[in-house]
Order: sequence, then structure tokens, then C-alpha cells
Amino acid sequence: MYESKKLPCHEKLSFDTKKQANTARLVAELQHNAKLKTYKCIHCGLWHLASLD
Ligand SMILES: [Zn+2]
Repeated sequence: MYESKKLPCHEKLSFDTKKQANTARLVAELQHNAKLKTYKCIHCGLWHLASLD
């Protein structure tokens, strides 16, 4: 019954620090030739990547 307790971001990559997220962002931007942003998640308190529209 843990399914309902999963955070909405549980499938996202998570980073402990902004620095780690930014490093991953740079790599992902090069790989995907896209602009990404980092943000601190209100759900888990960790950092995730998100695409810019
Ligand atoms: Zn999160």
C-alpha cells in the first residue's frame, strides 16, 4: 500500500544539491540540445531538472 504515498516526482532524477543538479543539467543540455532548468522540489526537497518551454 505504498503506492499512494509515492511523491509526484518519484520518477524524476533527483539531486541532493543545486551544484549536482546543475552539472547534470549541462550534460543533459548537450545530449538533448535543449535548454533545461533546475529547481528545488516542494515535494521531496531535492533538486530536479525541467525543460524550458
Ligand atoms: Zn521532488
